[in-house]
Parts: sequence; structure tokens; C-alpha cells
Amino acid sequence: MHHNFLFDLDQTLLNFHASEYIGLKKIIESNGQTFTDELYQYFKKRNKELWMEYEKENITKNQLFETRFRLLFEKCNVDTSNMDLLKINGEFIKIMSQNGVLMKGALEFLKKLRNDIPNSKIIIITNGAKLNAEGRIESTGLNAYYDDIFISEVIGVNKPSIEFFNIVLNAINEPKESCIVIGDSLTSDMLGAKNAGLTSCWFIPEEANDIDKNMKEYDINYKASSFDELYDVLKKWANLSM
Ligand SMILES: [Mg+2]
Repeated sequence: MHHNFLFDLDQTLLNFHASEYIGLKKIIESNGQTFTDELYQYFKKRNKELWMEYEKENITKNQLFETRFRLLFEKCNVDTSNMDLLKINGEFIKIMSQNGVLMKGALEFLKKLRNDIPNSKIIIITNGAKLNAEGRIESTGLNAYYDDIFISEVIGVNKPSIEFFNIVLNAINEPKESCIVIGDSLTSDMLGAKNAGLTSCWFIPEEANDIDKNMKEYDINYKASSFDELYDVLKKWANLSM
């Protein structure tokens, strides 16, 4: 039996928003426009709304991809009628995938975890696209630090569904008690762990609200607000579950 650490990827090990910022800046500037933080915030807001429409099945993924860039360029007063917005979206994702950004201290943390905890396995569980996840992982050197990876686009289901976790558990062929889910998201990581009956650790490196209330609601076992804290928590868990 191993100690199986099931890590979420974005805003846990990698900084998705930092890569998104780089990608968007390049796209805007290569189209002759001026990139501003305000524009980035506008994109994030519209993008989030469009993803919600997609999840409700009101729009397709291609409509989402086109619309987010149509809105962005319209905000810059650019006529988009002759622009290939899907192609621009593809370029954006490509730039992001080549520009992974680590959460500060992530590699050192994983290295220490692997070295210090016997029989540890680092498994990445992420919602998202294969190219975007794998590219960012490789561009940061994170690929040297994990044993297995499960990407929703590849396996066909998302966290927090129980199917996602069942596929992971079957594939790694380890008992539930040997696994702990670590992630920043309540609605995908913590809810997913709860659905699957797994131990969980909520990673909250940025400010979080209603911590105690959420820990109760999502049956969260541990929390950590830095990699140092997370290391201590995981070491304690590993000792208990030996
Ligand atoms: Mg996350």
C-alpha cells in the first residue's frame, strides 16, 4: 500500500491565472491592441459567465471559445466580423500551454514530500484540456514529480462526479484509506472527495471566507494555507494511515 496524494492541478500546484494572463497579453498585443489589467478582469468575468452557460448546455464549447474573444475584441473597439476567433482561441491555448507557472514553492514541496514520506505516490487529478494541462506541466518541470495523472478531457468525466474518482481509484488500484485529495476548490475537489468517501485537505493559499462553515459542509478533514503547512498536515496524515 502507498500513501496516495491526489493533487488538484490549478491554483494548487500550477497558477492557471498567471498562464492565462500571459496568453491573453500576447493575443491582445499581437492583434495591435493595448493590454490592461482592466481588460484581463473583463475577460475573466465574461469567460466565467460563458462557462456557466456551457455547463447548463445553453451554448457549445466552440460558441464559448468564439464568444469570449468576440467580446474581448469588441471591448477594444475592434471589428471582429472578419476575424477567425476560433483560431485566435487556439493560439491562446497554445501560448498558455507553453507558459506554465508554478505556485510558488510547489516543486520544492513535492520533492520534500516524496523524499520524506515512504511509499508516497503523487497523482494529479484535474478538470480541463489535455494539451493545456500537459503543456503547462512540462514547461514548468512538474512532469518530473508525479507518478500518474488523470485529466477530465481524457477520461470523459469531471470532478466532483463520483465516476471521476471511481476511475482514478480503479486505475491506481489502491484502497480508499490510502488516498487523500488536496485541492483549492470546494465545489470540485472537496465535494468530489466527499462524494467518493475520501479524506480531504483544503488548500487555501489565498484568502478564504467561512472556513469553519465550509469545512463542516464539505466534510473536510484538513486545511492548509501554505506549502509548509500542507507538508505538516500530509506528514501527520501519512503517519496516522500507516
Ligand atoms: Mg484548482
